[in-house]
Amino acid sequence: MHRSHTCGELRLSNAGTKVTLSGWVARNRKMGGLVFVDLRDRYGITQLSFNEAVNADLMAAAEKLGREFVVKATGMVRERESKNAAMPTGDIEIMVEQLEVLNPAKTPPFTIEDDTDGGDELRMEYRYLDLRRNPVRRNLELRHRTARAIRNYLSDADFMEVETPVLIKSTPEGARDFVVPSRLNPGSWYALPQSPQTFKQLLMVSGFDKYFQIVKCFRDEDLRADRQPEFTQVDCEMSFVEREDILQTFEGLTRHLFREVLNTELPELPRMTYADAMRLYGSDKPDVRFGMEFCELTEIAKGKGFPVFDGAEAIIAISAPGAASFTRKQLDELTDFVKRPQIGAKGLIWCRVEADGSLRSSVDKFYGQEDLAGWQQACGANPGDLMLLLAGGLNETRKQMNELRLEMGSRLGLRNPFDFKPLWVVDFPLLEFDADSGRWHAMHHPFTSPLPEDVHLMDSDPGAVRANAYDLVINGVEIGGGSIRIHDRALQQRMFSLLGFSAEEAQHRFGFLLNAFEYGAPPHGGIALGFDRLCSLFGGSDSIRDFIAFPKNNAGRDVMIDAPSTLDDTQLKELGILKG
Ligand code: ASP
Repeated sequence: MHRSHTCGELRLSNAGTKVTLSGWVARNRKMGGLVFVDLRDRYGITQLSFNEAVNADLMAAAEKLGREFVVKATGMVRERESKNAAMPTGDIEIMVEQLEVLNPAKTPPFTIEDDTDGGDELRMEYRYLDLRRNPVRRNLELRHRTARAIRNYLSDADFMEVETPVLIKSTPEGARDFVVPSRLNPGSWYALPQSPQTFKQLLMVSGFDKYFQIVKCFRDEDLRADRQPEFTQVDCEMSFVEREDILQTFEGLTRHLFREVLNTELPELPRMTYADAMRLYGSDKPDVRFGMEFCELTEIAKGKGFPVFDGAEAIIAISAPGAASFTRKQLDELTDFVKRPQIGAKGLIWCRVEADGSLRSSVDKFYGQEDLAGWQQACGANPGDLMLLLAGGLNETRKQMNELRLEMGSRLGLRNPFDFKPLWVVDFPLLEFDADSGRWHAMHHPFTSPLPEDVHLMDSDPGAVRANAYDLVINGVEIGGGSIRIHDRALQQRMFSLLGFSAEEAQHRFGFLLNAFEYGAPPHGGIALGFDRLCSLFGGSDSIRDFIAFPKNNAGRDVMIDAPSTLDDTQLKELGILKG
């Protein structure tokens, strides 16, 4: 027998019992004639105790145990003399009678402690050791609890988990495909799914009217903290539903998850149109944990002889509560912030509402107290607030102001990661014009249905057509998105032609779906939630990597197994990639 208990479960009530524990040596200290070894496993740490006076050989053996040795110890549980209230097992220790080294270990390249001395790269290279650390292990436990709560909720609501294939052909979600060469079909390639989108729609045609899958998806994109080349979605689809049914079902799931995983009750989720989100926050994933909504001053601030404003399509302001006390240095920092190339503003205008109500701005030369009072009124700014203004083209100014607003939210401490403010963003545009290719692109994907009342605009004004699509946004992060789908072959074909596919191309790429639509496709719709993002949100972190057991680094590499890597010529020839 390797163990009778785990290293996390013994308490004072177990005193006097003989137990066997197995685990890793976390720490080993000698104090005179005594040796104490902290034995660790997934469940906790238990102190092993050795006494020279009782058994000198055993104590000598214990003294030699190195960090991370795998050890089995048998002995009596007894009350500790000096208790450790910070540890659940801190009241007891094991008086060891038998000790066996199951496997020695090299000294780990970094300390396996909550606060480790290992840098990111090193920890990634030895990820299996990093995973022994409490904070990382806790993240994976949270992930497991979340997955389980999702499966329970959806299964209870009659959803069926169905697996869909990984070797498929391109599914357009707007990213590049990862591809796999086919040895049996030289010159042909599979694509890895960017999502199971087409398969879940086919399952609806098959009559599985509630489907879900916790599934790996693959997108060859440039990486950021919240992106990985392979990631996990909670992918769902339902038949005979309208948008309202889907929003209700997945609002229910969201609420269930917050309750189960975080013990938090969420209020009803508000809804905001895409148009409002852009107008008030300059983003389709607004962080509504704090106010500072945009206020358009275009009408009132133009035409006073200030050239920057006079030449602008839009003048947008936010009012930062209590920030009138910002020093010159802080204001300069904000100006530098908006002028960074990633943000690209030309400059920043500010206006303080002093405690006595007087107004001071960086453009006092052009605007008198009365003008500034007009701004203050339009923005609803109070004494002590700081108004910040950006001007330029409408879309770019909104984008820049979104960044500035988030920065101000962070600086003012208004973005507590455990204050959760979810909402639905609805009525996205169906199409986006891409100036580079001179073509319309699907904003979501090409299977998204237009709002019925906008279908008539598809030919005359495609840019004005709204999609029957929705995103679940929490704290400025897009946690999920979906839509009611097109289930009619003619409309789907029309959509493909709007996107610039010829009838032959559409048939070649998506013939299977178009054909299926002719065999009784029910009205259907669905959603996919980013599972890694959801877990990192629950864990209060920005980085999804911390919630994935074996993640890739910023360059898309797994530095532990050293992938991607080269293939030898034989393999390349077999795959038909290398001739000869
Ligand atoms: N397949 C979509 C995505 O991956 C989600 C959906 O429309 O259900 O974003």
